[in-house]
Formats: sequence, C-alpha cells, structure tokens
Amino acid sequence: MDKGTLKRNEFSCSSCEKSYTEYKNLRRHVNQVHPENLNTIAPLAVRKYKCSFCKKQYNTKVYLSSHERKVHNVKYYVPLFTFERSHCINILKSIIQY
Ligand SMILES: [Zn+2]
Ligand SMILES: [Zn+2]
Repeated sequence: MDKGTLKRNEFSCSSCEKSYTEYKNLRRHVNQVHPENLNTIAPLAVRKYKCSFCKKQYNTKVYLSSHERKVHNVKYYVPLFTFERSHCINILKSIIQY
C-alpha cells in the first residue's frame, strides 16, 4: 500500500525540482530562490471565484464553471473539456480548493 501517492506535493516549482503540499510554501520557496519569477510561478493575486449559488470558492474560473455545471447544472458554452484535458489540468488540480 502506497499511501504516499494520495498526498503528493501538488505545488511544484517550474524553475527547479522542488514541490510542496501547500501553495504558500511554494510561494515562499520561489520568493527566496527565484524571486524574479515569483509572479510567473506563484503569483500572489490568486483570484477567488465565488460560486453564485453556494459558498464554494475556486481559484480558477474553469473550476468554478465546472463546479457550477456539475452541482448546479449551469450550462456554459465554453469548451471546458478541451481545456481540462490540456496540460493545464495538473495546475488546476493543484489549485482547486475543497
Ligand atoms: Zn524553485
Ligand atoms: Zn456552488
């Protein structure tokens, strides 16, 4: 049984091999090691997207849309599936909040 696979370090630095379980730790690392890339790798201005139907908040519009579609049956014209299957999915997964 490899329990480690469930709790991976989801927030990885794109400038080196470091990865962290929490976004704030990644941010601290980037701030110390590659401060010039801080806004690229771990920007502070992570927008909170609030669901207009319940209290859930997401850091990306895509995930908010996805939530609204699944939970509240809201229809979007945005081709979410295309986006979700792109390489961005890993980044998005790491940002999603429950
Ligand atoms: Zn790094
Ligand atoms: Zn909701």
